[in-house]
Amino acid sequence: MDFKDSPEEAAFRAEAHAFLSKHLKPKNQAALRSGRREDYLDQAKKWQNIKAENQFAQITWPKEIGGRGGTPMQQVIWNQEEGKFDAPIAPFTIGLGMCVPTVIAFGSDEHKKRYVQKALHGEEIWCQLFSEPAAGSDVAGLKTKAVKDGDDWVLNGQKVWTSGAHYADFGIVLARTDPDVPKHKGLTMFIVDMKQQGVEVRPIHQASGGSEFNEVYFTDVRIPDSDRLGEPGMGWKVALVTLMNERLAVGGSPGPDWQEIMDYARSAGTMSDPVFRAKLADWYVAAQGYKLTKFRTQTALSKGETPGPENSIGKVITANHLQDICNSAIEMQGHYGIISDKDEAAANAIFQESFLWAPGLRIAGGTDEILKNIIAERVLGLPQDVRVDKDKPFSAF
Ligand SMILES: Cc1cc2nc3c(=O)[nH]c(=O)nc-3n(C[C@H](O)[C@H](O)[C@H](O)COP(=O)(O)OP(=O)(O)OC[C@H]3O[C@@H](n4cnc5c(N)ncnc54)[C@H](O)[C@@H]3O)c2cc1C
Repeated sequence: MDFKDSPEEAAFRAEAHAFLSKHLKPKNQAALRSGRREDYLDQAKKWQNIKAENQFAQITWPKEIGGRGGTPMQQVIWNQEEGKFDAPIAPFTIGLGMCVPTVIAFGSDEHKKRYVQKALHGEEIWCQLFSEPAAGSDVAGLKTKAVKDGDDWVLNGQKVWTSGAHYADFGIVLARTDPDVPKHKGLTMFIVDMKQQGVEVRPIHQASGGSEFNEVYFTDVRIPDSDRLGEPGMGWKVALVTLMNERLAVGGSPGPDWQEIMDYARSAGTMSDPVFRAKLADWYVAAQGYKLTKFRTQTALSKGETPGPENSIGKVITANHLQDICNSAIEMQGHYGIISDKDEAAANAIFQESFLWAPGLRIAGGTDEILKNIIAERVLGLPQDVRVDKDKPFSAF
């Protein structure tokens, strides 16, 4: 395991940090999650364009398509450095991290010409339409169907939890095109224009007060066959490429960590509480373990290798600790964490907001249980989860 940057990596880190310092303010953990700011979308589009103009938008993409031609390790370094600043990146994370790479991998030259630069420069936003009310962890069990009609496909069904669909211009949608084969074999991926007739986006109101994701209804939406990504029936393979692109997400922390709650406990005078001290020790030990696991991932990337399934450990630890840490901070505040002094809100409400956000983090991109299944099966080599429908036609259920 390598703990230090190589000289080249250190030089890239310094360059990235200098660029970020020139354009952004350092992250203020005390500030509420920036997705709530009124002008957030405009700021995000501007920042995306600045990055693209300076070849920092997609580090690993080839230079010919506007990337930097860099290494996966440089992308990780960029994520870590950008995570230290108040960077408005949320609207582009899924599109540029997962959807557009899928278009690059499976789209035609026309698709690449039409979509890639506009997304890279922040002009168009993409969303990922996989999950449905009865198909989340088991996404291959989805029911939204696309039926061939002349040169088009006609799409009908419902998606849910679609992040950013309310401002997205395009999406990649996974649909069932053949119900008479096993579930993984009857799926096809398409590009869908989110502004066209028949697409209805209904924002979901969250406990935190925001509306970051949506229900999306498709009613007789026509998609030209030329907007198919991959062959009919190959949608699962295409979806795996989309999901694989999540693997570089080993950047900054999702919210307050052990250090922040320790600082808070010092200011609140509760550091001597033995129950709190025992919890703090647990959070610290797990954070150190996770830090070393991340070094393992980074070492693999640095050597040009692909990180393994042990990467799944990260989200299980960070999301659960985020919830636990914020819960403890709110308990420390007394009165169920009600903040009555508005001058205190900016400094302390980060715990309340992160507490409401943490359960979502434990679900998004694979629930705790699914990630633990992956760790059990693919890291520890334990027996596989029961999969009764694996070889039967989808229509048989
Ligand atoms: C913040 C957020 C953003 C999201 N953004 C998007 C997006 O942009 N696009 C998109 O397509 N989706 C998105 N999702 C959806 C997300 O991928 C799903 O919510 C997730 O995969 C879980 O699916 P589900 O909600 O249907 O729960 P289910 O799969 O129904 O799970 C319900 C419970 O059963 C457990 N469970 C299920 N299967 C097993 C098993 N085999 N073994 C043990 N336990 C099991 C789960 O762990 C969970 O506790 C988002 C979700 C969130 C919270």
